[in-house]
Amino acid sequence: MIWILFIGTMALSLLAMLMLKMAYAKYSKMPASSGLTGAEVAQRILDMNGIRDVTIHAISGSLTDHYDPTQKTLMLSEENYYGRSVAALGVAAHECGHALQHQQAYAPLHWRMAAVGATNFASGMLYIIPFAGFAGHFIGLHFNYQLIATIMALCMGVVMVFQLITLPVEFDASSRAKKILGSMGAVAPGAETAGMSRVLDVAALTYVAAFISSLAYFLYYLLRAQSSRN
Ligand SMILES: [Zn+2]
Repeated sequence: MIWILFIGTMALSLLAMLMLKMAYAKYSKMPASSGLTGAEVAQRILDMNGIRDVTIHAISGSLTDHYDPTQKTLMLSEENYYGRSVAALGVAAHECGHALQHQQAYAPLHWRMAAVGATNFASGMLYIIPFAGFAGHFIGLHFNYQLIATIMALCMGVVMVFQLITLPVEFDASSRAKKILGSMGAVAPGAETAGMSRVLDVAALTYVAAFISSLAYFLYYLLRAQSSRN
């Protein structure tokens, strides 16, 4: 059963990732008629909303774009920072969406920020526990399997809740991005808007896949904890 779960969730994540890569490859070649770069659009959005304490930077890598609320930095991958494609503008505006959430104290963003520490701890435990159990077995240690499964379920539960909170944060940032890009005229109606929307919608699917995977693992360990009790 663990193999079905492992292969199934892996396939789901790979599929979502592949769809994103394909949509991004296609629409990062479609120039926006406004002629603006991702960095220019991001700066305009921040200016329009009176956000002066967030700085925009270019970083290496593909689709490494993110907003860091602790540093108040908006990191855009070089392709999106310098790029003038509808994909670049979509991603840049999406990251501005997170800066706007931060400015407006959007509740799910704050829940997500508050959950980062616990989530990092829980995901670390998820790697350590099976390894420790395996190693302990070889030196003759006997573990209480119900306890191990319960701890695994708890840690997976923390990760699952984090992935769940991530969903409204990501969907909201994308819906803000679509509205702003349309209203400021950075992305023209029709094919440009459709392409930009496609990239953002497919990017959201990767977060949905991550949530479904963590939910499946959580239920699996919960079931294991229950069945080893009987
Ligand atoms: Zn995001």
